[in-house]
Amino acid sequence: MKQMELLYEGKSKQIFKTDNPDNVVVRFKDDITAFYDIKRANILNKGRLTCDISSMVLGYLNDNGINTHFIERVDDDGQLCRVVEHVPVEVIVRNVVAGSMAKRLDMEEGIVPENTIFDLCLRRSDLGDPLINDHHAVALGLLSYEELSELYEMSAKINSLVTELYNKAGITVVDFKIEFGRATDGSLVLADELSPDTCRLWDKATGERMDKDRFRRDLGSVGETYEEVAKRLHNALK
Ligand code: UDP
Repeated sequence: MKQMELLYEGKSKQIFKTDNPDNVVVRFKDDITAFYDIKRANILNKGRLTCDISSMVLGYLNDNGINTHFIERVDDDGQLCRVVEHVPVEVIVRNVVAGSMAKRLDMEEGIVPENTIFDLCLRRSDLGDPLINDHHAVALGLLSYEELSELYEMSAKINSLVTELYNKAGITVVDFKIEFGRATDGSLVLADELSPDTCRLWDKATGERMDKDRFRRDLGSVGETYEEVAKRLHNALK
């Protein structure tokens, strides 16, 4: 595999073409941003850590029957991934009330509802990635009703698997954001990353936040905490 020119650069990742038209190299950056780029920083080794964590989680999902875009980790901050056609929605899966849900519905953070909550958001940063429903997604021509039920089914399976894995690491998966793409045969594929940048992770023993909220809320030790998540996941997967 040969890495070629840069195709796209986002807030936390770069995508490079390769000599195989079906594959790209995804590189994780040390940059961290929040609140639509209002808050920015550079955390030493964050790219390596989010690449490490996301590679472990997506590799584990691949091994457990979830179709993901991840093929293999190629080096410290790089992954070889399948090219997929991106579906411009975000699915947020919530096991514990926190963040925007707590704020919007005036609920206390930490409440554990009996059901799992699935939010669907349109990926349009100029509109603030608004919360939409299935009918909006169909009306916008983004997904069919059949694809939406598949998307929720996959999201629920991903949630069970990721929760089980993090349980072994002594960490509660409070919520996480995932994105999907379509493979060449039209099937839905988990794309993007699953790392402390896109999940809320609370230490089961201390309740300590082990995710990007450390940066959002100025709690400090972002890199050290991501390192601890990586270490615990490596042990959980042994
Ligand atoms: N999230 C994300 N990208 C987004 C929005 C949310 O990765 O553009 C993640 C976030 O890190 C958290 C979960 O999705 O783990 C739920 O986020 P929430 O809606 O509570 O928004 P927040 O208050 O974090 O902005």
